[in-house]
Amino acid sequence: MDLAYTDDQIAFRDAVRAFLDEALPQRLADKVKGGKRLTKADYEEWHAILNARGWLGVTWPEEFGGPGWDAIERHIFEEETTRAGAPRIVPFGVNMLGPVLMKFGSRAQQDHYLPRILDGSDWWCQGYSEPGAGSDLASLKTTARRDGDSYVVNGQKTWTTLGQYADKIFCLVRTASEGKPQEGISFLLIDMDSPGVEVRPIVLIDGEAEVNEVWFDDVKVPAENLVGEENQGWTIAKYLLTHERTNIAGVGFAQAGLENLRRIARQERADGRPLIEAPFFAAKLAQVEIDLMAMATTNLRTVAAAAAGQAPGAESSMLKIKGTVIRQEINALTRQAVGPYAMPFVSEALDEGANVEAVGPDYAMPATQTYFNNRKLSIYGGSNEVQRQIISKAILEL
Ligand SMILES: Cc1cc2nc3c(=O)[nH]c(=O)nc-3n(C[C@H](O)[C@H](O)[C@H](O)COP(=O)(O)OP(=O)(O)OC[C@H]3O[C@@H](n4cnc5c(N)ncnc54)[C@H](O)[C@@H]3O)c2cc1C
Repeated sequence: MDLAYTDDQIAFRDAVRAFLDEALPQRLADKVKGGKRLTKADYEEWHAILNARGWLGVTWPEEFGGPGWDAIERHIFEEETTRAGAPRIVPFGVNMLGPVLMKFGSRAQQDHYLPRILDGSDWWCQGYSEPGAGSDLASLKTTARRDGDSYVVNGQKTWTTLGQYADKIFCLVRTASEGKPQEGISFLLIDMDSPGVEVRPIVLIDGEAEVNEVWFDDVKVPAENLVGEENQGWTIAKYLLTHERTNIAGVGFAQAGLENLRRIARQERADGRPLIEAPFFAAKLAQVEIDLMAMATTNLRTVAAAAAGQAPGAESSMLKIKGTVIRQEINALTRQAVGPYAMPFVSEALDEGANVEAVGPDYAMPATQTYFNNRKLSIYGGSNEVQRQIISKAILEL
């Protein structure tokens, strides 16, 4: 397998770089690189820029408005946009629901929802997890009872990322209680402004409320909002998860984090010289860099295999574990590098144009918030413990 880019791929990379130079607003890149808080409007601005270029639904086939890229081109795009400091593409509509509707949705659902995902008319969120149904998703209890032309939904979802911004939520709901739990699940699209839907913020350890509880109290949903067949939801849920797990290694994010860490370690001082030269710190930095290079190579191997038509197997679990452990290690070293300035946390200072004094250098300000926020990396998208179980069965045959 050849891990070097071809001439065409290098030309493609240069085209992506030229586009980013011209189209990525400096204001957004500064916010991302400076660890500032992104608003809904920031994400929407970047989505609109990508959509205008035809580069928002990068996994979408051309017939649905995608650019028709292969796995390596998508990888190059992800790497370049992350390195340039572009806001991430909020995945729920573009990367999760879009592919589901293309495969399981009716023609009417595709015609209605897909263009609205791309042009930003609908902001989607993901209603899978419930209290008591996270890793063991099939035990979910939110019910949808058929009543004439509608379903009546009751129950609670949790950890709903950016649900406070969402116009709509795609949900796994229980439509039957007989047989195996997986057999009684359906996939339903629900308007967030339907009577009976309530969003309650959850404040996390970093002080942010990016996740929510979403409650459903006799919420009436048109039956035409069912995707696929009734009780086919588990198949759809699994299909969606394969899309959730693309770019799971997060190589670009780790590279950006490492670059930031090196910049900080060059400016901070220990025993009268730059921290980056202090043997104990330099050794840790070198170790994480080596781990990242090894993971980036493994990631490229899976990307090249995907481009050759092979479906990723348990390698995704390896990449999930290594990718998240490396990013958390970079976050821990960044906090260590800024020393006592990691202690004060002035939340308002993360807002653009905030009129508050940050304590310590600018680069220290997001260190603790990012460290705490990224504890999530080893939990969502299938916790690292669950990934280890998959490896033990699929690779080690235990
Ligand atoms: C920041 C954040 C954002 C999220 N966003 C969303 C979202 O938008 N929509 C959504 O639907 N969900 C979302 N989730 C939920 C996420 O998918 C779940 O948190 C995850 O699936 C784990 O489920 P749980 O929290 O219920 O933990 P549990 O499943 O209860 O697990 C608790 C602990 O037990 C371990 N464990 C569980 N089963 C096993 C096993 N078989 N073997 C070994 N160890 C095991 C886990 O690793 C974990 O350490 C989000 C979570 C977080 C933290």
